[in-house]
Amino acid sequence: MGTKGRAIIGMDVDELLGLLNAAYASEWLAYYQYWLGAKLIKGPMKDAVAAELTLHATEELNHATLLTTRIIQLGGAPVTDPKQWFAASPCAYDAPDDPYVAVILEQNITGEQCAIGAYKKLMDVTKDKDMVTYNLALTILEQEVEHEEDLQSLKDDLDLMVSRGSR
Ligand code: FE
Ligand code: FE
Ligand code: MG
Repeated sequence: MGTKGRAIIGMDVDELLGLLNAAYASEWLAYYQYWLGAKLIKGPMKDAVAAELTLHATEELNHATLLTTRIIQLGGAPVTDPKQWFAASPCAYDAPDDPYVAVILEQNITGEQCAIGAYKKLMDVTKDKDMVTYNLALTILEQEVEHEEDLQSLKDDLDLMVSRGSR
């Protein structure tokens, strides 16, 4: 823990650590949801969608890396037991039990929308209080916004393909 780095934070550090750990748990769940969805996916455009899902999985894992670095820097303890991920995460884990491409896309769009809300909240809470975490949350938020749009445009293409194909 860096003592001066912690001392400049203008908010309760334990509250901040709680928010960082919540985001950390969500990133692991998002990683697994994407990673497994990419393996199971079936239906039109599945190869293009699987490639995007796999890329997003690696990006979610990188978000977990960024968050755990900040948690440790602040003297906190990242959630050590995966059993705690569900309780800690503000965003749901949606098991890819139905492998149809549209269902997988919708599940992950919902996940991204939750993540966008969570990082917006982290930014609101840290604004003018903790510039380092604020900047970290912005970096991750930019990528979650990109993820949502990637998935929605794949879903739009899929919907076009399915509706034109049935005419
Ligand atoms: Fe993420
Ligand atoms: Fe994401
Ligand atoms: Mg992408």
